[in-house]
Amino acid sequence: RLFPLKTDQGYRIGGVIHDITQRVLAEKQLQHMATHDSLTNLPNRPLFYDRLNHAIANAERNARRISVMYMDLDGFKTINDTYGHDVGDDVLKFVANTFVANSRPFDLYGRWGGEEFIGVIRNISRDDLENLGDRLRLLIKNSYVVHENKQLHVTISIGATLVKKNDTVSSLIKRADTLLYKSKAEGRNRLSIDL
Ligand code: GH3
Ligand code: MG
Ligand code: MG
Repeated sequence: RLFPLKTDQGYRIGGVIHDITQRVLAEKQLQHMATHDSLTNLPNRPLFYDRLNHAIANAERNARRISVMYMDLDGFKTINDTYGHDVGDDVLKFVANTFVANSRPFDLYGRWGGEEFIGVIRNISRDDLENLGDRLRLLIKNSYVVHENKQLHVTISIGATLVKKNDTVSSLIKRADTLLYKSKAEGRNRLSIDL
């Protein structure tokens, strides 16, 4: 902050320096906390909704296909009931990390709620979406979390769909959710994808 300072020789420029580094860092931290899930550090539902909304708008302009994968852990309540909530939390972190570790720069994974995750995959064909979904499903099925020298395995069910003309965030997620439900109904640990 600068201001005129009266001296014997006339006016000079005076100034005060406020170091706002800490304030800016604190604001950034608050902003991050408000938009990310504290357990997995993935974008939370409001941020993810916003990002998906932008992706759809840009996809229309670029005539590029984007897609959504809706994923839900199978029988997760049993993990909690058997090993406790903290172990359940570790499993959720492991699943989130698996998504992030296998994403490309423009893919985005978010925590939609409880044990449900959503991914936005940009620029992908239906075949590649199917490959990606199956790869993630198998990666999770074949990995494990170690708890008291035991290997805990989980599986996920997935519903995957590509954006269509006039899709909104809600219509896209609703379709993915219906496909996820199909994966559950057909026995879990599977991927359902539409045309
Ligand atoms: P399904 O195969 O049909 O999906 O069965 P499920 O047991 O996974 O589904 P259900 O909806 O019955 O249970 C989900 C469980 O996820 C119940 C809830 O306590 C647990 N859960 C939700 N959020 C968290 C969390 O942040 N941490 C832990 N440890 N558990 C959570
Ligand atoms: Mg669920
Ligand atoms: Mg579940």
